[in-house]
Amino acid sequence: MTKPKARSPSTPHRPSRGNRDFRDRTKRSTRTTDSQSTRSTAPAGEAGAPPGIILKSGREKSLLRRHPWIFSGAIERIDGAPVSGNTLPVRDTTGNFLAWVACNPDSQITARAWSFNEAEKIDTEFFRKRIANALAARNELELARNSNGMRLIHAESDGLPGLIVDQYGDVLVMQIGSAGPERWRDTIADILQDLCKPVCIYERSDSDSRALEGLEGRNGVLRGKLPDNVAVIENGLRFSVDVAAGQKTGFYLDQRDNRALTGTLAADRDVLNCFCYTGGFSLYALRGGAKSVLSIDTSEEALQLAQRNLQLNGLDESRAEWRCADVFQALRTLRDQGRKFDLIILDPPKFAPTAAFAEKAARGYKDINLLAFKLLRPGGLLCTYSCSGGIGADLFQKIIAGAALDAGVDAQIVHYLHASADHPVLLSFPEGAYLKGLVLRVAG
Ligand code: SAH
Repeated sequence: MTKPKARSPSTPHRPSRGNRDFRDRTKRSTRTTDSQSTRSTAPAGEAGAPPGIILKSGREKSLLRRHPWIFSGAIERIDGAPVSGNTLPVRDTTGNFLAWVACNPDSQITARAWSFNEAEKIDTEFFRKRIANALAARNELELARNSNGMRLIHAESDGLPGLIVDQYGDVLVMQIGSAGPERWRDTIADILQDLCKPVCIYERSDSDSRALEGLEGRNGVLRGKLPDNVAVIENGLRFSVDVAAGQKTGFYLDQRDNRALTGTLAADRDVLNCFCYTGGFSLYALRGGAKSVLSIDTSEEALQLAQRNLQLNGLDESRAEWRCADVFQALRTLRDQGRKFDLIILDPPKFAPTAAFAEKAARGYKDINLLAFKLLRPGGLLCTYSCSGGIGADLFQKIIAGAALDAGVDAQIVHYLHASADHPVLLSFPEGAYLKGLVLRVAG
């Protein structure tokens, strides 16, 4: 299938030019790598000092607020000769302990915190506890009601930076995005096998962002055997999931509740689903009684699977139209053809992984939303999303307001949306709230 789109907050894309002050201040040295490391290019700190990271004065503030990331620019020096994935203590300039981190000298996010408790040991037991906690929260709170597809571990927000685990029935898909969980990969797989007893743990550690961490891509079975057919049943709808070649870990679990909402809005409407992937929103709309559903995506493979999913659910094929096209072009074609819709869904890939990309991304969001507003009949609904970490909810709303203004429509927000509850957001890690959505009704 087409390239995976990482929607995880744990692997932000950063241009590689930063890091300069850090590099200038430290000498490079040759190091030996241990069996757990990927490569070793850490700048040296003080010879003979115990291994650890010392922050620049004043740069401890975010760690004190329990934000888990340390950027290279905050680091005074790294003592010892750590290799990627090693656990290190972080201290302020006066030697006070701040956190245990997984270090990655190859990444702009040079360290990610495992724990802020000096007494805590980062070992197998630590991972067992964190994983068990994440599983317990999902069970106790029924975070994925009415679905056997669920995000079991949501990286930083579950205290496990860089680690994503999605469940599709009795198959688990694990995605590692940073050096810490890479170092503990086998331990994590053993614990998951023990606690969840899946028939297969499949690894999809092949997102583009791994290169920024100096990690090679990996895609394959980690434990057990991959069944021929993997599927999730979500609110009674069955979706085939291609865990080996699909996007991300195979399915966009984060949109579960928003898809269900769409189903309740679709009756008797002509629906346009842009960036449809394997047909998530389309199938809910069809089941919800949509008059017609036109679905657009650039991925042939995704569209084929979408049509198979439609058949799997015995839905009326005559009301569904599938189009392999670039949405930016397709919306213009539809406008030129004078087509009109009553409900439009825009769920594009991540346009802005970080704030550095926000301006360009904003133009993209404005363009498709403006065109969508123009394609809506009076009283029509626009369900519009952004999964860009670099675009906050306020900015997103402003962009949509600008698009409505330029399209010459008045619109009201009727729903503020976010990722489903199995994608929790750690309070100290607002980056976890990457998915935001609005449902707007244009004036009748
Ligand atoms: N709404 C979907 C998930 C969408 S993911 C769900 O609920 O499952 C984003 C999709 O956008 C991917 O399928 C990707 O193939 C598609 N895509 C990316 N760029 C595109 C473009 N310019 N035009 C059309 N589709 C695009």
